[in-house]
Amino acid sequence: MRVFCVAEHRFGVLNPLSFELLNLANKIKGSGTSEAVVIGKDVGKFAQELAKYANRVWVIEDATLENYNPELYVDVLLQLFNKEKPDAVLIGSTAEGNELAPLLAVSMNAPVVTDVVEVNASDELKVSRYLFQGKLMADLKIKSKPCVLTIRQGVFKEGVEVKGEVVKANIKPSKTPARKFLKYIEPEVGEVDIAQAPIIVAVGRGIEDAANIPLAEELAKLLGGVVAGSRPVIDNGWLPKDRQVGISGKTVKPKLYLALGISGAFQHVMGMKDSELIIAVNKDPEAPIFGVAHYGVVGDIFEVVPELVEKLKAKG
Ligand SMILES: Cc1cc2nc3c(=O)[nH]c(=O)nc-3n(C[C@H](O)[C@H](O)[C@H](O)COP(=O)(O)OP(=O)(O)OC[C@H]3O[C@@H](n4cnc5c(N)ncnc54)[C@H](O)[C@@H]3O)c2cc1C
Repeated sequence: MRVFCVAEHRFGVLNPLSFELLNLANKIKGSGTSEAVVIGKDVGKFAQELAKYANRVWVIEDATLENYNPELYVDVLLQLFNKEKPDAVLIGSTAEGNELAPLLAVSMNAPVVTDVVEVNASDELKVSRYLFQGKLMADLKIKSKPCVLTIRQGVFKEGVEVKGEVVKANIKPSKTPARKFLKYIEPEVGEVDIAQAPIIVAVGRGIEDAANIPLAEELAKLLGGVVAGSRPVIDNGWLPKDRQVGISGKTVKPKLYLALGISGAFQHVMGMKDSELIIAVNKDPEAPIFGVAHYGVVGDIFEVVPELVEKLKAKG
């Protein structure tokens, strides 16, 4: 298969999800190719980075493409795809991607599946996605080519280097868009992307109250990590929604996942089970979280965490 991935970037920073798309492309391409498309102004440096993980990187540059504009992206992508004939197009399941993918799919007369978490291309193309906030997992068979898929962030983090070529596509926008970029509104200061954090201290209902969150924050700071939570913690307003781990939150794969007072319901576990090292603290020895944890401490978080904090402080 020829699998094309649309790279995402903003203000000179490449979204690492772009590499996850390529990891998936390399996994499913078979005897075909993984190809990235990077669209913008002065995006040559991204092309070099992407080429490590792609057989080919297509660069589409123009001053009018400096900021993401779905109309222009669809315009230039169609020009490329009309010539290069992708079998599948992968786009990040992000605010941008979830706008771009259906627009592109309609223009290509292609099927689209959003927020995909698994793809199997060994025989025919099959993809999986959650439905009804994670109550159901749907497996879909895609019968027509090309197709457009948006891919959930954090699922395809591992991949191999490919070292491909960079090709400058001689493509320019063919129209003046009806909408234009006005300004980017920065997210509130303090927001963190838990999907990118190498160390996560996650709290569950066992943390009991918003007033106890600083305990986890102190531990996270000492470890150089960030605080995340299970759904009840978010529903209670103790942490913002973007800190939720699980099927209706984010999928994370940090180097260390410290689960404090989290029972280990499958909706939570599905979002963190692939973490490199999972350590759980729970006072219930039967808590299911111990089934996925590499190390477990049966104990009270209000005793274990302060002790850990003291030990880390003493260590300097
Ligand atoms: C459609 C759907 C989608 C969902 N999506 C998500 C999701 O994305 N993410 C998610 O997390 N959940 C999700 N859920 C909810 C999920 O089913 C569980 O209810 C939730 O994960 C439980 O959170 P918890 O482990 O924090 O709380 P609980 O299950 O109440 O567990 C609290 C744990 O803390 C332990 N504990 C209590 N006090 C202490 C203490 N002092 N010291 C040590 N341990 C202590 C208890 O022994 C217990 O194991 C979803 C549910 C549905 C139906």
